[in-house]
Amino acid sequence: MTKPRILTGDTPTGRLHLGHWVGSLENRVALQREYECYFIIANVHAFTNPSRAENPGDIRQSVLDITLDYLAAGIDPAVSTIFVQSEIPAIAELTFLLAMLIPFSRVMKNPTIKDEIRDKGLGDDYPFGFPMYAVGQCADILAFRPELVPVGEDQLPHLELCCYVARRFDQQFCGVNSHTEDRDYVKAGGVFPVIQPKLGRVKRLVGTGGPSAETGQLLKMSKSLNNAIFLSDEPDAVKKKVMGMYTDPNRKKATDPGETDPAKNPLWAYHETFNPDKAWVAETQAKYRAGQIGDVDCKRKLVEVLVALIEPMRQRRLAFEKDPGYVLKVLKEGTARANVAAEETLYLAKQAMKQDYFPRTLTL
Ligand code: ATP
Ligand code: MG
Repeated sequence: MTKPRILTGDTPTGRLHLGHWVGSLENRVALQREYECYFIIANVHAFTNPSRAENPGDIRQSVLDITLDYLAAGIDPAVSTIFVQSEIPAIAELTFLLAMLIPFSRVMKNPTIKDEIRDKGLGDDYPFGFPMYAVGQCADILAFRPELVPVGEDQLPHLELCCYVARRFDQQFCGVNSHTEDRDYVKAGGVFPVIQPKLGRVKRLVGTGGPSAETGQLLKMSKSLNNAIFLSDEPDAVKKKVMGMYTDPNRKKATDPGETDPAKNPLWAYHETFNPDKAWVAETQAKYRAGQIGDVDCKRKLVEVLVALIEPMRQRRLAFEKDPGYVLKVLKEGTARANVAAEETLYLAKQAMKQDYFPRTLTL
């Protein structure tokens, strides 16, 4: 029996952080034996931000760093496929084909694209390739015809676009009736499934910084926003970040229970997410609300909690770092396997579009 597939991944714009762990990575580790898993390192998408594109060496380093982070987090390359986006030509080809089915205005209305332009300060002359990445991501996903896509909340608009284009393709080229239920598209003859997102236990972990000047909301933890605690941070670095972290400046005067709203205060967002001692969290939160305990004590406890989570991963990472040849081998073998799956999908799409002139075989 073949296992259902998972496709998800990361842009190599830095190392992986706690937001990745609870948003997606934790699910990947848990599901990797039940599903056939493909994890994409989306290196082409790392070039969408002009200031990053000026430092291609950093993008290359991030590809290796993310692979190390995966291995350290417990992704097993014997069962899961880790691969590099730029070495999968079928993805680039599908991007072009799918772009024909997506209205330009629909891409530009995507709220994640708008948020990223604002939060990453991309201004108005971001490259054409920046919004294009939303279309590219449809190809990244659909090339593997997965059942499940584990992601954080910011990815939902992208996944909606992915469902939209899958339906359109299947209706236009495979004769699938537009009244078909989403789950039945493949059964009805479609090439592409209408995929299901799977949100992590925390949909959007906030960063260690204060709220955005523009929106007043805390920003999500992100590699690009300098507000992340990384899975490879040394205990001292974790301590420094936690002790210096933003906390709600209104909390002392407030009697409103909303003051400890995790959305407003990263300290409690992190305790609620990562502290296994739920009784401590409930009790201490009550004291905090009443002004009976200060930030520093709660932060010290948080350092302990986070170091206990991160340190075993960091130690495993150090061991893998000693063998760069192994990391490249994992990527090469994964990319070869991913090409087999993506080529098969592309050929099915070309058949549906009546452009299947000569079958081809790719080798690495
Ligand atoms: P960048 O700043 O370059 O956009 P990022 O930190 O947002 O990086 P991505 O590579 O864009 O990370 O995201 C990879 C996956 O991790 C996506 O599924 C995304 O939803 C999830 N993710 C990233 N940050 C968080 C977060 N803070 N909370 C929950 N999920 C997250
Ligand atoms: Mg992102």
